[in-house]
Amino acid sequence: MPEQLIIAGERRDAAAGETFTVIEPATGAPLAEVAKAGPADVDAALAAATAAFADGRGSWARTSATERGRVLHRVAELLREREDLFATTEARGAGHPIGDARWEVGAAAGTFEYYAGAANKHLGSVVPVQDAGLDVVLREPVGPVGLIVPWNFPLLIACWKLAPALACGNPVILKPASLTPLTALLLGDLLVDAGVPADQVHVLPGPGGVIGDALVADERTAKISFTGETSTGASILKASADHIARVSLELGGKSAAIVFADANVAKAAADAPMSVFGNAGQDCCARSRILVERAAYEEFLEVFEAATRAIRVGDPLSAETEMGPLISEGQRRTSLDYVEIGTGEGARLLSGGDVPESDGFYLTPAVVADVSNDMRIAREEIFGPVASVLPFDSEEEAIRIANDSDYGLSGSLWTGSATRAIRVARSIRTGTLSVNTNRSVRYEAPFGGYKRSGLGRELGMQAMDAYTEVKNVFFSEED
Ligand code: NDP
Repeated sequence: MPEQLIIAGERRDAAAGETFTVIEPATGAPLAEVAKAGPADVDAALAAATAAFADGRGSWARTSATERGRVLHRVAELLREREDLFATTEARGAGHPIGDARWEVGAAAGTFEYYAGAANKHLGSVVPVQDAGLDVVLREPVGPVGLIVPWNFPLLIACWKLAPALACGNPVILKPASLTPLTALLLGDLLVDAGVPADQVHVLPGPGGVIGDALVADERTAKISFTGETSTGASILKASADHIARVSLELGGKSAAIVFADANVAKAAADAPMSVFGNAGQDCCARSRILVERAAYEEFLEVFEAATRAIRVGDPLSAETEMGPLISEGQRRTSLDYVEIGTGEGARLLSGGDVPESDGFYLTPAVVADVSNDMRIAREEIFGPVASVLPFDSEEEAIRIANDSDYGLSGSLWTGSATRAIRVARSIRTGTLSVNTNRSVRYEAPFGGYKRSGLGRELGMQAMDAYTEVKNVFFSEED
């Protein structure tokens, strides 16, 4: 397991010599002892990144976009070559079932391939202005970027940020979550092996309240891309305000899946469990509010509950496992508390919510029915394996319930009617919506939230915009 932080592509101990212990969620036992970065390490990384960028004159910023793309292709190749290492480390460090972890390595490589191709296709433009001459719009790298990542998809979310940031020519300072720093450290090594200049690559594990804050508040950080809790996002906006940093935020969610009676209800119900219990429910896109039209309610519940009971909860390293442990005892406690809160509010626990005999942080997936949208389990992000099922009576009511949330990240719509799909899709206040499927995120398409689910968009060509500044240059044609 990697143990040291990375500054300018080199592994180092923390300046203060401190370390912290990473726990394996499946066993509750120590997995690794990792360097704990402090403010002095943030300062060293930012000094190196600022020098490497040199106001846009640094080597990576000036490398042709075509060559940057070639290097990113090599990153993807190395990720695929090192699939076993990355997948096993993610399974042990984050508790992901090994099959899911292998898929994530492939998706991480796919993200780099997409941005390898995007690097020389992110075009400027020529503007037909009123004066005689040539007016061009250029896209230039923004400068050192702070990439702050949560623990639920440590590798994948890091790659969603690293790939476009590097494609655009920026030095990167990656701050992984303290619970899951390991694949980020492996990635730092891999970027350098692939040919990203060492002075562009910095990975700092350590406490968010200390080094995350130091990174955000430092005026040398030109842009912050953050994924995590809404409250942390708000504090990052405040801390970065004084130096007007560019900020994008991917925050929490409480997404609704709406199932109309005219849908293929059996398919929707069979698909629903992994849309909320995938990654043990620790997914910002989890469809944790499932809205079902009353005419199909009992049929849906029967299939959904049976499919949920069939989910194989167990050792992440076993190929059979579909749901691993939660990330920590705290996350399990929170989930159990919400089951109690829901039943206390009058909802009906149909199955799950049991703690298996184990030292790991396991919990069986809980199905809670007869939930109403004013209950706390319908309003607050749980980030654990708890699904709330709510009945509704009309299209208008479904839209009203789906939109009655502080969040607006993701969601699904199941219907057999094309006209209804169009009407409802246009009425839902959310950043990503899937019709007759529950899958949300595709790296070719923009991803992000309405309302308190975020600011800005990741993925797709929108991310290339987010990691660049726009410069307008006018060339007079007069001598
Ligand atoms: P947190 O907000 O607690 O932490 C996210 C990251 O921010 C971690 O690296 C953390 O470091 C760091 N951090 C903590 N405090 C600060 C600070 N003051 N300044 C700068 N950085 C800080 O979120 P979680 O890790 O608990 O992740 C779960 C949350 O992420 C959920 O709300 C979920 O919905 C959201 N999420 C959103 C996604 C989206 O795309 N919209 C995708 C995935 C998750 P440390 O670990 O050291 O505390």
